[in-house]
Amino acid sequence: MLTAAELARRLRQQAELGAGALFLEHLSRAEALGLARKFAARAAASAATVREPASPTGEPGLPELGRRRARGAGRSAARVESGTRAPAQPAERGATFDERELTGWDHADAYREVRDTAFGCVRCRLHEGRSHVVFSDGNPQARVMVVGEAPGAEEDRKGLPFVGPAGQLLDLLLATVALSRDSVYICNVVKCRPPGNRNPLPDEIETCLPYLRRQIELVAPEAILALGAIAVHTLLGRQDAIKRLRGVVHRYEGIPVVVTYHPAALLRNPRWTPGAWEDLQLLRRTLEGERGTSLL
Ligand code: SF4
Repeated sequence: MLTAAELARRLRQQAELGAGALFLEHLSRAEALGLARKFAARAAASAATVREPASPTGEPGLPELGRRRARGAGRSAARVESGTRAPAQPAERGATFDERELTGWDHADAYREVRDTAFGCVRCRLHEGRSHVVFSDGNPQARVMVVGEAPGAEEDRKGLPFVGPAGQLLDLLLATVALSRDSVYICNVVKCRPPGNRNPLPDEIETCLPYLRRQIELVAPEAILALGAIAVHTLLGRQDAIKRLRGVVHRYEGIPVVVTYHPAALLRNPRWTPGAWEDLQLLRRTLEGERGTSLL
């Protein structure tokens, strides 16, 4: 089976050879999700067995790519006010996060503080119907931060962002640029599920926004991938349609932001997937520009 890095390299080579829009449009939804599941299972197995940073001679592409230097030490940031606390959510995490990842990180204590504050948050009405506060998944020391919209039913049940078919498609998109769920940091604009999967309301976004701001300050990613209109509009402060904002690198507080469609929208509109492929390539080039080295 191909590794994520091999898949990424192969897709890129085909694109450079003029194969054009080759990515998911020739795959059925079932085929694409099947492929994504394989990569997700492989990443989970890798995360379960390899918690030490990959050696320089290890398999290229999976956990190592997302790890990076401690950065932003000493950066100041406003604290998130906790408000009245509900009983704290157990700090259990999903399959791809290990609390030990925080060991030795300059921001570990601050990160735990904001996360645990969110776990008990009742600052907006969304706390009333939630099962879990969905704070994040992935590596808080990653180079790339992926920001989505809000938890859905499956995310609320599991306490993790981007699980289910949309999450599997996200895994596949990340694999095309040799990233995995374990090598990025994933979160949403709002941390609790809006009822009936409606969009979060402006006042809910505004109330929850300090958590996202604080996450960005602490994670200090080299680039942000913004998924869908809610994330894009919140980070960029613009209301333009996604298709008008794609294709260029925007900035949030100086951090490069690449815009693309939400995976759930891609599942509904498969013809947009070649555009998402292009957006991921822009993310790759942006990271390579920041670091000056190739990802693949
Ligand atoms: S959505 Fe955000 S602000 Fe609202 S209760 Fe959940 S964590 Fe708190």
